[in-house]
Amino acid sequence: MPTAPKTFRAAHAPTPKQSEQDYDRRRGSARERGYSSKWDKASVAFLRKHRVCKACEAVGILQATEVTDHIVPHKGDMGLFWDRSNWQACCRWHHDVVKQMLEREFLAGSIGRSDLNLTSRAALDLASRLRF
Ligand SMILES: [Zn+2]
Repeated sequence: MPTAPKTFRAAHAPTPKQSEQDYDRRRGSARERGYSSKWDKASVAFLRKHRVCKACEAVGILQATEVTDHIVPHKGDMGLFWDRSNWQACCRWHHDVVKQMLEREFLAGSIGRSDLNLTSRAALDLASRLRF
């Protein structure tokens, strides 16, 4: 049976768990970033109104929404955080994979704000490349 190749980590390098803990310490916990019980309720209500991932639907896939995403990253700006016109409901894959890559491209300046919408041409093209 094939096994995954062994990976090596330098003795001084942090473990993946340590890296994650460091990252959370720098950016604050989810609660510290505004993801309160008020958010949980608002997000659930939003997902009830938007049951199908529009980005999946755009390519003919019927996928339930799981995440309320901030189209433009709020970075602690509570005005942007609560601005419902900045919310999009999507499936976990679109949020965790496609949107994270779009945000990196956005922060690097290679795409614009409108490209962060998961039904934008840039997002659909990226999703298509990742999916197939
Ligand atoms: Zn999707």
